[in-house]
Amino acid sequence: MHAFSRDGGSFTSAVNRCVGVGACRSDVGAVCPSFHVSGDEVHSTRGRARVLAEMLRGQSISDGWKSTEVCDALDMCLSCKACVSECPVNVDMATYKSEFLHYHYRRGVRGFFGKNRRPRAHFTMG
Ligand code: SF4
Repeated sequence: MHAFSRDGGSFTSAVNRCVGVGACRSDVGAVCPSFHVSGDEVHSTRGRARVLAEMLRGQSISDGWKSTEVCDALDMCLSCKACVSECPVNVDMATYKSEFLHYHYRRGVRGFFGKNRRPRAHFTMG
């Protein structure tokens, strides 16, 4: 879990930093490499921030931290951190992705792995 000290300790406030300016879709600079390749809004920093905001709102995405749609949206984030320096409001998608994956793969109360088992690559690359 991350402290989100710049956002009063709130993951929701951190996600809501994105105000939709769309600097992450610009051709200038490094952000966002996965959007530059795919051309798909959901693979931009802004698109991922909107998906996370929808998850936290709990209406169109109702399965919260266990959501495979959110996991898929974050999957192509390279955690390069270009958004932190180039986004005008310093959206830090790599940290948000890390926070999401922590909860997405969190063990159940009895310590057993749930159906969302961490891929081996997370252990080998970690
Ligand atoms: S950390 Fe993820 S969202 Fe941010 S610029 Fe890199 S690939 Fe894009």
